[in-house]
Amino acid sequence: MILLDGKKTSSDIKDEIAIKVAELKQQGEKTPHLAAIIVGNDGASRTYVNAKVKSCEKVGFNSTLVELPDTISEADLLAKVEELNNNDDIDGFIVQLPLPKHIDEHKVTLAVSPAKDVDGFHPESVGRMMLGLPGFLAATPAGIVELLDRYDIETSGKECVVIGRSHIVGSPMSVLMWRNSKIGNCTVTITHSRTKNLAEITKRADILIVALGKPEFVSADMVKEGAVVVDVGIHRVEDASKKSGFRLLGDVKFDEVSPKCSHITPVPGGVGPMTIASLMMNTLQAIDMK
Ligand code: NAP
Repeated sequence: MILLDGKKTSSDIKDEIAIKVAELKQQGEKTPHLAAIIVGNDGASRTYVNAKVKSCEKVGFNSTLVELPDTISEADLLAKVEELNNNDDIDGFIVQLPLPKHIDEHKVTLAVSPAKDVDGFHPESVGRMMLGLPGFLAATPAGIVELLDRYDIETSGKECVVIGRSHIVGSPMSVLMWRNSKIGNCTVTITHSRTKNLAEITKRADILIVALGKPEFVSADMVKEGAVVVDVGIHRVEDASKKSGFRLLGDVKFDEVSPKCSHITPVPGGVGPMTIASLMMNTLQAIDMK
């Protein structure tokens, strides 16, 4: 079994980006600038946003963190988005999800300028991905593709099963796996909460991508011998033995599934860091989108 080490791969990618940024600066070009809007005080969201800001520092980007209270009105949040759209110094920005219940996430996603949509959530970005046109790819699925590529995983002609059909992970992931590209050309089955006989389907998978958001849902009997397993799930579970008071679990029972796999991502240290690397790659790409 080979561990798909997202932490190391992400660090390698960030080193490569840092070299490009240093070159840009040397040539007198603008320093890439990523902004993030965070609404409220959700602990996990804060951790993710802080990690993104820290990565900006590592690669040499400028970063701006816009912190807003969870009482902010939808109109005021949309006005802040518009302000970032119009700020020429900012190349790309994200609005960290989830947002408070009184704010319509779709409205906010639509308000982000497609030219600055480094999370790849805007319908224009999604449409471009579907059509194979240049554009921003959703950060998590794109990070997974990059990880598979860097480990030379053969995907062409393989059976790929994706568990989950969310707009940010499962759906774009399935598209990237059937696209006609180096990582792609799979025969893809996408599954969801209404899927019958899930284990029968997952057992067919040469590549199984798990993004359903249920801790340790996938057990060894759902996985084919020799499969490549990508675990997107992240869950904080209380653990008094840890300094932080919690530990992280994925959607896959790692201990029993990993011996059956040819390759598997760990949690933590698998998909999570690759999402951030992907965001950094998208921000670099954003310079050319203006
Ligand atoms: P989501 O929006 O809740 O979507 C979950 C999907 O799983 C839905 O399509 C749902 O089906 C499906 N599902 C739920 N129960 C199922 C079952 N028993 N069998 C088959 N399918 C089932 O979640 P998400 O945003 O895609 O995130 C999924 C997980 O990935 C979460 O743990 C999240 O924290 C994690 N995540 C990690 C990263 C990262 O960077 N590592 C990034 C994003 C998300 P229906 O559509 O029928 O409801």
